[in-house]
Amino acid sequence: MTKAVRIHNYGGPEALRYEDVADEAPGAGQVHLRQTAIGLNFIDVYYRTGVYKAPQFPITLGCEAAGEIDAIGEGVTEFKVGDRVCYGGGFGGYAEARTMPADRLIKIPHGITDKQAAAMTLQGLTAQYLLRLTYRVQKGDTILVHAAAGGVGLIMCQWAKYLGATVIGTVGSDEKAKLAAAHGCDYPVVYTKEDYVQRVRQITKGEMLPVVYDSIGKDTFERSLDCLRPRGLMVSFGNASGKVDPVDLQILSQKGSLFLTRPTLYSYNITRAELLANAAELFDVVKHEHVRIQIGQTYKLKDVAQAQIDLEARKTTGSTVILP
Ligand code: NDP
Repeated sequence: MTKAVRIHNYGGPEALRYEDVADEAPGAGQVHLRQTAIGLNFIDVYYRTGVYKAPQFPITLGCEAAGEIDAIGEGVTEFKVGDRVCYGGGFGGYAEARTMPADRLIKIPHGITDKQAAAMTLQGLTAQYLLRLTYRVQKGDTILVHAAAGGVGLIMCQWAKYLGATVIGTVGSDEKAKLAAAHGCDYPVVYTKEDYVQRVRQITKGEMLPVVYDSIGKDTFERSLDCLRPRGLMVSFGNASGKVDPVDLQILSQKGSLFLTRPTLYSYNITRAELLANAAELFDVVKHEHVRIQIGQTYKLKDVAQAQIDLEARKTTGSTVILP
């Protein structure tokens, strides 16, 4: 047996149960992992509350972790016992130990700790595809990143800055504004005090933006469109405030022939070659310290419910790591 945190139905934080689950030997194409650090993501909250649908119950939530391989199933050639590995995606992350398909794992390079890997695999790969693939940020671009002091947000600010962009970021407090500024955000906008559309207009001298990265969803969708220049791209990649209401496509024509996408990490990492190339790019910017992984808080595995409460209450900053 091993300890894991599962839900048996959708619900509040109390739905997260710290319990004993079977610890299975790896089958063909699988490895067994002793996990050393687990990442916390807003997606875990969506699956716990039912915003996203779980494939079955009970289910171990958590989609990101780092650890050491301690057993190998038949046919696995890319990894060996003792390898340090990480992953971002799927389920089963909130556990001390687990079995999983080998083809979802990435080797952690020297110079990157397990905690860093757990804090950045999913959030960093998200920043990677958003800034490099969904819209290829160029030197001289000015971009808007919502939740700039969050896990994905702090990575995006630093990476976009490294690419030569000017970064405008929305944050919920003065403390978060300071943190975002220390991580490459040129213009943190405290949205409780300032109107971000107006700030974008001032900063860009009316030109507005080629791209907006919006992870807030319901509360910000329409005003984010107002930050775009004609033919700009709206990247709606999350729903921290709730799902965006159905969109009347006419709004895209009225606001200037806008483009709209609702991307997922999975669709940018479908093949193993894509995953490895994207991860290599992420590890490279971290190893060269263009992007520093900010672990704002850590919790014990049995306290995952408190971690999710704090994430939902906007109390966390940067990435959060859970220790098994
Ligand atoms: P964050 O650390 O960014 O936490 C969410 C932040 O959103 C909060 O700290 C808060 O910052 C802000 N926020 C604004 N409104 C609300 C609200 N009503 N309730 C809660 N928070 C709110 O989380 P993550 O880094 O884990 O994820 C960021 C976003 O990216 C999420 O929406 C997630 O779903 C999305 N995501 C999407 C992926 C994809 O491929 N599509 C992959 C990974 C993540 P503040 O106080 O500054 O307002």
